[in-house]
Amino acid sequence: MAITSGHGNPKWTRDEVILALDLYFECKGLPPTRRDARVVELSEVLRAFPHHAKSARKATFRNADGVAFKLQNLRQVATGKGLGNVSRTDKDVWAEFGSDPAGTRQQAQLIRAGVKVAHEVREQEADYEVFAEGRVVTEAHLRRERNPKLRSKLMAARNALGPLACEVCGRQGGGSNAELAQAIFEAHHIVPLSAGEARVTRLAEMALLCACCHRQMHKLIAMRRQWLTVADLRRVLGGAG
Ligand SMILES: [Zn+2]
Ligand SMILES: [Zn+2]
Repeated sequence: MAITSGHGNPKWTRDEVILALDLYFECKGLPPTRRDARVVELSEVLRAFPHHAKSARKATFRNADGVAFKLQNLRQVATGKGLGNVSRTDKDVWAEFGSDPAGTRQQAQLIRAGVKVAHEVREQEADYEVFAEGRVVTEAHLRRERNPKLRSKLMAARNALGPLACEVCGRQGGGSNAELAQAIFEAHHIVPLSAGEARVTRLAEMALLCACCHRQMHKLIAMRRQWLTVADLRRVLGGAG
């Protein structure tokens, strides 16, 4: 019997279960053993998760046994047999992605991309609220927004249209110094990070927000645990949401 729990290891998060479900789909519902190369690979990815840094020091944390066991849990959820052992998160993820292997794969790719950049971003954004359950994707998204080239492209495009203004509150930079006035604006991606990190971000996917509204935007996303549009935030701040 595999030893996978009872050692104080934290519960599997949504992100982690999505990665496991992706592998479950890849295996066509026949979970492989702990010796399978894909199980070992996933174990390594999970042990690198930024929010589990401390736990990962334990040998039992998300080891191959644990991953193989989780795949069995997912099989239980998928087949409806032996539901006593599965977690709430397993059920929730299955409810959301159980009939959508392609969507699961896309989400899994986002999470894997996020794990790679998350450490660096966490250092830069220690005070930036991200929601725990979608954490790595959110962090990858924030990092992308901070690309200075994208921001200046967006500024140039908007400058050509007239005075810069926040797309949520309408605030303009003010003052006579253009460079100073522009400093209040940040680029916000209106779509969450998409699969395929190499994809070119189009200007149409970006909104120009003042720093305050941008912060509130991500706070609201964190509070609601779902992606929101600029119009959504405008409604909420206007008191109608
Ligand atoms: Zn604003
Ligand atoms: Zn943003």
